[in-house]
Amino acid sequence: MPEGSSSYDCAVVGAGPGGYVAAIRAAQLGMRTAVIESDRVGGRCLNYACIPAKAVLRSADLLSEVRDAGEFGLRVADVQVDYPAIQERRAKVVSTLTSGVAGLFRKNGIELIEGEATLAPRAGTGAGAVAGGATGADTDTGGGATGAGAAIALRVGEREISAAKVVLATGSVKMAIPGVEFSARVIGTEEAWALPEVPARMAVVGAGASGAEIASAFARLGSEVMLFEMLDRVLPTEDGDISRLVKRGLERQGIQIHTATPVRDVQVDEQGCAFVHGERDEPARVDYLVIAAGRTPDVDALGLAAAGVELDERRMVRVDGALRTSRDGVYAIGDLVAGPALAHKASDEGIIAVEDAAGLPTHPLSLVDIPRATFCTPNVGSFGLTEEQARQQGHDVVVGKVPYGAVGGGTVYGDRSGLVKVVGDTRYGELLGAHIVGSRATELIQELVNIRALEGGFPELARIVHGHPTLSEAVMEAGRAADGWLIHG
Ligand SMILES: Cc1cc2nc3c(=O)[nH]c(=O)nc-3n(C[C@H](O)[C@H](O)[C@H](O)COP(=O)(O)OP(=O)(O)OC[C@H]3O[C@@H](n4cnc5c(N)ncnc54)[C@H](O)[C@@H]3O)c2cc1C
Repeated sequence: MPEGSSSYDCAVVGAGPGGYVAAIRAAQLGMRTAVIESDRVGGRCLNYACIPAKAVLRSADLLSEVRDAGEFGLRVADVQVDYPAIQERRAKVVSTLTSGVAGLFRKNGIELIEGEATLAPRAGTGAGAVAGGATGADTDTGGGATGAGAAIALRVGEREISAAKVVLATGSVKMAIPGVEFSARVIGTEEAWALPEVPARMAVVGAGASGAEIASAFARLGSEVMLFEMLDRVLPTEDGDISRLVKRGLERQGIQIHTATPVRDVQVDEQGCAFVHGERDEPARVDYLVIAAGRTPDVDALGLAAAGVELDERRMVRVDGALRTSRDGVYAIGDLVAGPALAHKASDEGIIAVEDAAGLPTHPLSLVDIPRATFCTPNVGSFGLTEEQARQQGHDVVVGKVPYGAVGGGTVYGDRSGLVKVVGDTRYGELLGAHIVGSRATELIQELVNIRALEGGFPELARIVHGHPTLSEAVMEAGRAADGWLIHG
């Protein structure tokens, strides 16, 4: 392969958690790999979404701890929010992590191409298709993903490159709600985390994970926050018990929660926006309206139709269990494809895609078993089926519920109100799902995901020795509760 050649074994479009992990794995497997990115290395996750959100939330959490310090015998006078410093730290966290990814590209010999990539039309459907010529014919065994090994052409500005395999990882973009357009005062979640000031008043539309996180952070940093949800509860995809406790926690932070309530007649001016809500068209005015009501795959620039890459009825890219699209040799991962829009799902799909491309055996992800994390206060971690879903699916359901206060750790560390709930099937002790709300729920959930992945059940969870005094003892006790022999409770 000549230096500077534009032919690759694997070209990855998008350098988010899906794309950059796929590229590193491809390089590990010996593929000559390029990543094409139109904006910043690290994708939306590292630059605008997950990481900035968690950096700002960390400041809000610390603020809560300092405010509660009196309970622990510490007097802290005059706590002040230095919001510009919070934003400065956010930017530093982002640049530390994104430069880490750029370093991994260099270490693995991955070429980063800056620009927007478009797939060339498939041979026979227009100009620009390239037949053959790419390296990596030796990788063409990939689960039958490619046909005769024809290279796939991509255009990046004036440049044309070709690759034996292409992984599309372009993520998703924000969606407005009907009748509302984004503007300086009607913003998406990514813009919310980078706001230049703590708004006096903010409304958030959508009480899913992103909306709950924004409401929880800004309410504690000093905003008056209204949180609207069309469905009848906050975190509507979580287990009902968890939603109830989160609602209580958010209300304690002063957030005004309006469920089953659409927002209408949004009027924007330079200072903010006015709208009405509820059955009686109650008027409200805020500095910013944040729309956290869903996202849609970022496919507009990719030229999918001409390239022979099909979308499904929800405009997601249609893929099989190995993330192969309808076009031989082209894979799609992350927010482009069905399943929860989560960074770790994108990364794991990237690994599956390039391993398949390299001819290795792969297994499809079990989408329901992917851990879900919401970093509001209270923290939420979950995986698998909710109690309601398990009953609807006809399982012989058993539930084990244990409050954090039942074990020593809950009292020692100052969170007795958290809850661990495991949902099992009595027949074989199967762990169908688990739901945790409270301190460190986003970390605690992983143990339960691992138990299921290793084909253990709640009886095994109940008998694994857990350290003392830890919150993880509440997880173990929930297993015991499901198995019928709760010790602490
Ligand atoms: C506010 C917010 C908070 C979130 N918090 C979490 C969280 O805590 N945990 C979690 O797991 N998930 C979280 N998510 C979801 C997570 O951000 C996404 O699931 C994840 O970023 C998807 O990764 P990806 O690699 O598919 O795409 P992205 O991260 O979106 O990266 C795609 C990249 O592709 C580039 N691109 C697009 N089109 C082209 C093109 N034609 N050519 C070249 N490059 C292109 C884009 O510029 C972008 O950099 C959050 C989302 C939001 C909005």
